[in-house]
Amino acid sequence: MSNKKSDEEWEKILSDELFYVARQKGTQPPFAGKYTDVFDDGTYVCACCDEPLFSSDTKFPTHCGWPSFAKPISQKSVSEHIDNSLDTQRTEIVCGSCDAHLGHVFDDGPEEMGGLRYCINSISLKLIKK
Ligand SMILES: [Zn+2]
Repeated sequence: MSNKKSDEEWEKILSDELFYVARQKGTQPPFAGKYTDVFDDGTYVCACCDEPLFSSDTKFPTHCGWPSFAKPISQKSVSEHIDNSLDTQRTEIVCGSCDAHLGHVFDDGPEEMGGLRYCINSISLKLIKK
């Protein structure tokens, strides 16, 4: 499934803040997002296109200020891009369906969950509770 649209189309249907984060690769301030400390059971879908991205089963508490997950729901649900916008190279995570910017993946996640930390902006997600 692909949900690609032009920036002009997205700008019409998204809120200003979601457009800034999802389409212009913005970052929410830490602890500003609504899902940082939410641990309800459910599926986190893309706020732009409703593609299922992360399960609450893989969400873990962190002190970084953004919702963090050990892995995406499937290999196809997200895509990775190399991001050189800061001094250190990071790996950007985007929605596999609509290319919305979601956040970055780091290798300092819990070892028992695979060692990765998908650090995601709350606003790029919608929680569909079980
Ligand atoms: Zn999407």
